[in-house]
Formats: sequence, structure tokens, C-alpha cells
Amino acid sequence: MSKKILAAFLVTASGLGLPLASAQEPPPDAVFVNGKVATVDADFTVREAFAVRGGRIVATGTNAAIRALARPNVTAVHDLAGRTVLPGLIDSHVHAPAASMFEFDHEIPSMETIAEVLAYIGSRTKVVPEGEWIQVQQVFITRLKEARYPTRAELDATAPKHPVAFRTGPDSMLNTLALQKCGFDRDWIVKDGGPGYLEKDPSGELNGLTRGLARSINLRSRSRTATEADHLRRLQEQLRDYNQIGFTAVADRGATPESMKRYVALRDRGDFTVRVALSQTFPTVGSMESIRGAIDEIAKNPLRKDDGWLHLIGTKAWLDGGMLTGSAYMLKPWGRNESYGIRDDAYRGVLNIPADRLLEMVRHVAQHGMQFTAHVQGDGAVTALVDAYAAVNREKPIRALRMGLTHSSFMTRDTVERAAKLGVVIDLQPIWLYLDTRTLVNQFGYERLRYFQPLKTIFEMGGMVGGGSDHMLKIGDLRAINPYNPFLAMWTTLTRRAKWYDGQLHPEEALSRRQAIEFYTRNNAYLIFWEKEIGSLEKGKRADFIVVDRDLLTCPVDEVKDARVLETWVEGKKVFAQKKA
Ligand SMILES: [Zn+2]
Repeated sequence: MSKKILAAFLVTASGLGLPLASAQEPPPDAVFVNGKVATVDADFTVREAFAVRGGRIVATGTNAAIRALARPNVTAVHDLAGRTVLPGLIDSHVHAPAASMFEFDHEIPSMETIAEVLAYIGSRTKVVPEGEWIQVQQVFITRLKEARYPTRAELDATAPKHPVAFRTGPDSMLNTLALQKCGFDRDWIVKDGGPGYLEKDPSGELNGLTRGLARSINLRSRSRTATEADHLRRLQEQLRDYNQIGFTAVADRGATPESMKRYVALRDRGDFTVRVALSQTFPTVGSMESIRGAIDEIAKNPLRKDDGWLHLIGTKAWLDGGMLTGSAYMLKPWGRNESYGIRDDAYRGVLNIPADRLLEMVRHVAQHGMQFTAHVQGDGAVTALVDAYAAVNREKPIRALRMGLTHSSFMTRDTVERAAKLGVVIDLQPIWLYLDTRTLVNQFGYERLRYFQPLKTIFEMGGMVGGGSDHMLKIGDLRAINPYNPFLAMWTTLTRRAKWYDGQLHPEEALSRRQAIEFYTRNNAYLIFWEKEIGSLEKGKRADFIVVDRDLLTCPVDEVKDARVLETWVEGKKVFAQKKA
């Protein structure tokens, strides 16, 4: 419009008592007033109201200022009735496609005791034909009340006519029929050149425990096979479940060509209600030439172009083992442990990639301008990866690439400091502190856990850390492995309290309320290269936000974990509303 007409229009508008500023741009589609809006901007400003247009925040401010922007018949006015609003939450570590399919064949109950494990196996004997496999997967023994495997005799008594495998990571407990089916007897020795052995009782008889032999246990079963439509339906169900607990974005830390195709299919048919950032896996064994080739292929993926909904941010590798299976790579020896089968006093865990190869992988990913991250649980693995980043950084600064430490459970003051200096970001899972402190204190003692999930220190040293769950099995925020309820995780960061454990684990590492919220919002947005789009409620950002049923900044601390989401909005559209009681 010409200057003259614009001036006339402004005069008319002001003559009607409308604020001039709003006459210059179209009115908002919606305003939200009477709230306690934690914008999570750099100053953590709390506002009363905000306005949305075209799926983006156009203003935040007082009730009066925001109401003044509304136009009758154009702007929907939502009364928040004093409720707290937060930016949409972000989980920086999930495996949604696999997790959503885990119970495709049948529902699997939560198991916290040996009795519950046996009850589940017993229930399967009624459904699975005799002679066919029954298996229990990823029930970590360290999370069972008894902290041990079910015995061969217990499995035999429960399922005498079925081969049974109770599997955790590389190890499995088998019953008698399963041992027979695998051809395991007291004279058996490993013949394929790989690792592994069979445990024996003092009389030399197999006790059913197989170490490192997952490859030798062929669990062919006749479970239902899923169609592509089944995969898509369940993945969509999973994304909806993320919405109901407040997530509007997640990072998939194990993307494959197959799983990425499914995300693309949902996005393209308009069924996306969660933004997804992807870290793609690649094989880390074989010749370096083939590994470089695999990384080159990832770099060519068109999903590296960001559309605000789905983008490939880099690669993911596995540098060490797990802290629940006795294989995280530590700086000091693990110490003996019967349930983990550790009998070597010098044993420090498992490092999967030698330093020179790791350096080449990091360098090659950096050359493509992508984020490298790796599973690093033990402080030895964290140190090895930070060393590799530091070496590449000497050749060319890596800060802009936001290289990652995934899990990073056991740290040292030194690695926290070096990571902060290098601009290395950390995706960390508080739920493990909650579920596993009991076991870890038994194994390592309290003092050795001084820098276990050292959140306060990371914040204080200027590091960047975001919260996640490592959700890998089942749909459901509390029943999943690992549970992905962000309020339970925030509470864990505030209290450092844990299941079946009295007291707190190094409360000097507890976060403030503000930090706990930043940890699940703006910090994660930075981790996944979306800090210009999401992570806070500021002018120009996408209108991704949640309305919660309590004030997380002031409610009694133990009520934080029970918070419920009332509404979830993505890009200005309501994607979840809690059913009225
Ligand atoms: Zn994971």
C-alpha cells in the first residue's frame, strides 16, 4: 500500500481506538491470556499472555497489551485461568520406531521382581505352543528388586515344556530346554572365534547363564509379522503419546534408512505432531574406507535440509558398553561382581572403537559439517571421546558442530570442563539416576559417584546439557523402558532421589527449577540445532507450548513428578487435550 493510503488507514485505525502497532500487521489468530507463561527466554521472563499467528508467536506481554492485539471474529481468545504455560518439551534421546513396535505381538507387563518375571513366563506358556521359544528382553537384573537373574531351576519349574531365554544385553539365562536347543552342554566351548562362555555351578554343571553368546541363541518364533501400515500406525501412536506428556520435539538417536522412511511417510501425509531430529547410525567395524563411505552416504541424505519438522543432524556410534550390564568403560577397574560375571580385578569395561579409528570417524563427520555423537557411559569412554574432539578441534574448531556426548553418565570434573570449552553438548538421562542409584552405589560406593550426572557442575562451567530418556521399548511414559515422563526426570534432577534408595545421590549436583525447565526446553533445542525455532516462547518462534496442571516453579518439590499436561499445542494447533474428569 502507498505511504499516503497507509497514513490514512492509520488515522482511521487510531480514530477507532485501536493501537497503531497492530494496524501495521495483521491481527493474531489466537491470544492466550491470564496465564503464568514461562517463556524460557534468556532471562527466564514470566509473562501473563502471548499471541499466535500463522503458527508462530507474534508477541508476549501483559494481559492488556496482548488483548489489545485481538480482533473480533478473527482472533480466538483463550483464557488460561491462571495456569502455567511452558514451551513444548523436548526429549533429546529416543528410539521411537522400535519402541512403538515392541508390543506389537502382545502386551508385556512391567516386571520389578523375580516373581513377576516368572508370572509373565507362566502366562506365555499358555499361549506359545510347546517347544517354541519364550523370551524376556531388556529387563535389567539390576532393576529387579532381587538384583539377580532368575535361576535355571526357576525357569524349568515355570516352563518345563518351552525353551526360555531371559536376555539382558550380551548375556542370557536359559532353562534346560533352551540349553539343549542351542546345543550347550558341559563340554561346549566357543568355536566361531568370537567372545563368550557358559557359566557353571561348583559341580561343573551348567547353571544356565550364557555370557556374550547372544549370537548363538537362535530364537526363531512364530510371532505376527507387521505390515508397513502397522509400523506407521504404531509410530503415529507413539508420537501422540509423546504429545500427551508434553513433548513437541524429540531426537531419535539411532535413525536408520528404514526408520527415516517411516518418519518421512508420516510427515508427508500431515500426521506429524512431534518434530524429530535424527542422528543416523553407521557401522564402526570394517575398513576405514568403508566407514568413510557410509558417512559420505549419510551426508548426502536430503533430510539434512531442515523443514522445521524433520532433519538429520548427524551420526551416532556406540563407544562403550552399558552401566547396567557391567560393560561401561571406566577410568578405574569396575571391581568384582558376580551378577555381571566380573572376576578380573583389572577389568575396566568394554571400549568398542580404538582411539585412532575414533579420531578418523570424528574428523570425517566434522568435514561434512555434521554433529558426531556416541554412546559413552563410563568415564573412560567419555574421556576417550572428549580426547578425540579435542584433537579434531586443534585442526579446525568444532564449536559450531555441537559434537555430542550421549548419556555421559560417569564424568570427571576435567571432562565437564573440557566439554564446555569445546562447545561439546551432552544428552543425559536422569531416569537412570532414579532407577539405578541403588545398584551403582552398591557397586562403586558413594564417593566414586561424585560426578555421576553432574548437572549442576555442567551448568556452572558453562556447558550445554539437555534431558532425555533413551526410550527404547513400549509406548507409555511410565511403563516404557526407559520411562519418558519428563516431570519424573525433572524431579530427579531437583532432588537427586532414587527408587529403593534412602537419601540423595550427591545433592550438591541438584538443579534449580529454572535449570530443570531449561534442561528440557531451550537447552535441548540447542542440542538439535533448532534453537531459532523452538525451546522458548519468543516473538518469531514456532508456537509449540504446553499448559500444565500446576506451577512447576513454586509447587512443593515432590509434586513436580506428578505434573500432568492439560493441553499440548504444536505450531499453534492443539494436538492434545486431557479428557475432562
Ligand atoms: Zn539410545
